[in-house]
Amino acid sequence: MSQLNYALVIAARRDAAAALIGGARSLAHRVGIVFAGEDMLADAADVGFRLGTAGLPFSAAASAIVRLVAEEQPDLVLAEDSADGRLVVGALAAATRTNPLAGVSQIAVEDGRVVAKRLVYGGSAIQTVAADGPAIVTASAGLYEARSGAPCGDIRDVAVEPPEGVKFLGRSAKAGTGEDLSSEKIVVGVGRGVGSAAGLAAVRAFATVIGAGVGATRPAAEESPWYDGRRYIGISGDTIKPNIYIACGVSGQVQHMVGVNQAGLIFAVNNDAKAPIFQDCDYGIIGDVNRVLPELTARFDRA
Ligand SMILES: Cc1cc2nc3c(=O)[nH]c(=O)nc-3n(C[C@H](O)[C@H](O)[C@H](O)COP(=O)(O)OP(=O)(O)OC[C@H]3O[C@@H](n4cnc5c(N)ncnc54)[C@H](O)[C@@H]3O)c2cc1C
Repeated sequence: MSQLNYALVIAARRDAAAALIGGARSLAHRVGIVFAGEDMLADAADVGFRLGTAGLPFSAAASAIVRLVAEEQPDLVLAEDSADGRLVVGALAAATRTNPLAGVSQIAVEDGRVVAKRLVYGGSAIQTVAADGPAIVTASAGLYEARSGAPCGDIRDVAVEPPEGVKFLGRSAKAGTGEDLSSEKIVVGVGRGVGSAAGLAAVRAFATVIGAGVGATRPAAEESPWYDGRRYIGISGDTIKPNIYIACGVSGQVQHMVGVNQAGLIFAVNNDAKAPIFQDCDYGIIGDVNRVLPELTARFDRA
């Protein structure tokens, strides 16, 4: 695989920045990172652009990032596939009259061009697209391993003007639902089969005992009144790469599994022996999550 000259990563979260810098390193000789906030790291990047967003949301920097990209002329803009990343990429694509490649699952460089793959038609087909010029891409940070490296010695400050016509009133932290799973080594997946707030509490108790994060399928997150998070894993949600994924009451449809199929080991608990998840997991328990999980929790608690 050939390499590009210069890739510019855009990330609002520290974990995502580290992973996308790792990905960009495999694609380009020179890597820059556009970030905001004092606690962000630009380690392993050749150059860091620190946005002066103090007190403003990341998306307020969209115009400043458009100007920066025009000056820097990277061959690839690799943005985190998040609300912030997609918004910035939308502004960049409009300014440069380029089609952004959103939500890609694989990026390669062939003959100096960016070639990206993404799942379409609900995960039943793979679309391959090649960019003829500079490429603007969003990808889940979970696709890549974070790369450690020397602290970046070239950090440049980028001024950000508050956007006109919109007044940012403030932000407040949402009670932790452990939704950012990109750095979790173990993830317990909540499917519709978990079925109730009591079932979810049993999942969370189990996850606490084994030190896991908790994620969900799309219907569990979007349609189940007992689920308290909004993000979900899968083709239209997050891609994760934990060492262990434990699917609880998850049927195992392809649209969910594409988000976890890079996990090291997949375990499943499902009361239907014919559920597709049993074709995709390494170890399975046929049983009711409401009985199996409390028992597992008690055993791990004693261990
Ligand atoms: C375009 C498109 C995009 C989509 N994107 C996504 C996506 O990104 N992510 C995603 O997750 N889905 C996505 N979906 C939906 C996907 O197709 C599936 O419908 C979804 O993943 C199923 O979620 P689930 O496993 O929670 O629910 P279900 O399919 O309803 O499965 C529930 C499972 O729980 C089991 N169960 C029931 N009770 C118990 C119990 N007491 N104990 C143990 N097991 C029990 C059942 O046997 C069943 O297998 C998408 C669909 C489309 C069409």
